[in-house]
Amino acid sequence: MPLSRLIPRSQKPGKVVVVAGFLLLLAFTLVAFGLFYRKSLPVVRDINYTQLRELADAGGARSVKIVADEVTVTQADGTLVRAVVTNEAAQQEVTAAFAKNKAQVEYQSLQPGVLATALNYTLPLVALVALGFIGWRVYASMGVQSDFSAAETGGDTAVTFADVAGVDEARAELAETIDFLRDPEKFGRLGGRPPRGLLLSGPPGTGKTLLARAAASEAKVPFLSVSGSSFQEKFAGLGASRVRRLFARARKLAPCVIFIDEIDALGRRRGRGSDSASADQDQTLNQLLIEMDGFEQLCGVVVIASTNRPDILDPALTRPGRFDREITVNLADMRGREQILRVHARKLTLEDGLDLTWIARGTPGFSGADLANLLNEAAIAATRDGSEAVGSTHVEYARDKILMGVERQGFIMDDGERYATAVHESGHVAVGLAVENGDPIHKVSILPRGRALGVTQALPERDRLMRTRQYLEDQVAMLLGGRAAEILLLDTMTAGASNDIERAVEIARRMVSEFGMSPLGPIHLGKPEDPHSQALLDRIEQETNVIVNAQMKRACEVVDSRRAEIARLVDGLMERDTLDADEIRERFGLACDRAA
Ligand code: ADP
Ligand code: ZN
Repeated sequence: MPLSRLIPRSQKPGKVVVVAGFLLLLAFTLVAFGLFYRKSLPVVRDINYTQLRELADAGGARSVKIVADEVTVTQADGTLVRAVVTNEAAQQEVTAAFAKNKAQVEYQSLQPGVLATALNYTLPLVALVALGFIGWRVYASMGVQSDFSAAETGGDTAVTFADVAGVDEARAELAETIDFLRDPEKFGRLGGRPPRGLLLSGPPGTGKTLLARAAASEAKVPFLSVSGSSFQEKFAGLGASRVRRLFARARKLAPCVIFIDEIDALGRRRGRGSDSASADQDQTLNQLLIEMDGFEQLCGVVVIASTNRPDILDPALTRPGRFDREITVNLADMRGREQILRVHARKLTLEDGLDLTWIARGTPGFSGADLANLLNEAAIAATRDGSEAVGSTHVEYARDKILMGVERQGFIMDDGERYATAVHESGHVAVGLAVENGDPIHKVSILPRGRALGVTQALPERDRLMRTRQYLEDQVAMLLGGRAAEILLLDTMTAGASNDIERAVEIARRMVSEFGMSPLGPIHLGKPEDPHSQALLDRIEQETNVIVNAQMKRACEVVDSRRAEIARLVDGLMERDTLDADEIRERFGLACDRAA
């Protein structure tokens, strides 16, 4: 690759030397990772190229994974064989043969995080710049490989739609794309409009990557995955040339799926900054747009991108012929959560009485990734106890851990601190029980977890789609209940309330500046980068303060009127550390409520 294409002419030659030095180190690092990776694969048998070629032509292989020059084949019986194919053309030929015989082909690109860390460690060795030009040569000779020499994280079994639950709509929207990938030409003949780019948008952990992977495997085509942030190169021009090589590779493998995770990292609005980093990013994005416009639709390359910030993408990305279909992948509702739990529970032994519906009901707002994590933590807890199966206590433990953080072991509070914490938490509980629109109190604890000394856990009983003014006010009051109890019952204030206050003020500020719930009426501030009038900002702060103070007063009134109940709750906490919903209600003289 000619030097001039990678380094803009304006750069001084000194910089070239530095860059080349880095590249040499990069090459070393990659080789080191390559060796490491080679060791970590559960390889059964090494074969040579001829044997690999025979295997490809014979058909019947299940999947093929390519990492740099290493081709790993999962055979029909599940055993693994591996061959090293350094010649790129040969590698392409053999993978094409596998793909033709219906094996699932997957390429993996280098994890940017790993790369960045590696670079940071090798940074002190900058003295090696003297070897700069040799490094440049090494890099140049590595060519395409450097994009795809990588560590693979997934398992060896292909993901299918059976592994993705609760996202039926998104799945239905992908059906057409899968039809197209199965037979691009036929799709064209029948007059379908071939898809080119799809944008999967939604919160993290909702299964976007999983969906893209399942689509490729359903269509039995190769899956090339890269992360948007891997295009954020430290060196000018490299991001764009990476994009070029990625598409060149895809065209050879077509039909195939290119998956760009976190496209927002590379697809932000162009022309924001005048510094060289953002100019380079603009160049990378331009290259992506050029590639997307450039390929003929019948060649059968579909680009699927995922983001949780569709709002910050450059509008050019979503124009017709590019990412012109957006599929929203939302957090699952209760039924969806149950299905996701069912998928992940397949691998576990559950106690007979353990009801997945019950878990789904108690985990509003959990993403698919959170639910997978929940069952995993529960299984770990069950193993630790020596239980035969995962039971409800393990699930409760895992949920508390995810929602409230890990219990801090060996952290002993003295009785004075425990008492102050118990009073503070009881203040939250008292207000939480008194307000009409809050979420039911589920648990209160004075065992330190994470950075908090105590926790009061309120859980919505259903998925809350709409938040009313009353609900938000009650939230603010409940958050301030801890401070109210400190003032009235301890005659002091603790710094432990700072997080409560921060969250309360944040809610109040949004009520004023976004939801139009103050005397200022429906106002909207616009984008953060737009200029705002200082007068308006001042009035927003004033109205925020009015809401916070009103709720603080309300919290104090509640605490003042529940002194006896709070004292009983504090005694219970001092004795037992953690109380559940029924134990709390009993101390407050309320009927027990099984549903909470
Ligand atoms: P995203 O790409 O949206 O951030 P991923 O697809 O990477 O999320 O999901 C991360 C992990 O969470 C998956 O590997 C899977 O274990 C679990 N998961 C997420 N969503 C689902 C789902 N809808 N069904 C089953 N598992 C899911
Ligand atoms: Zn608190």
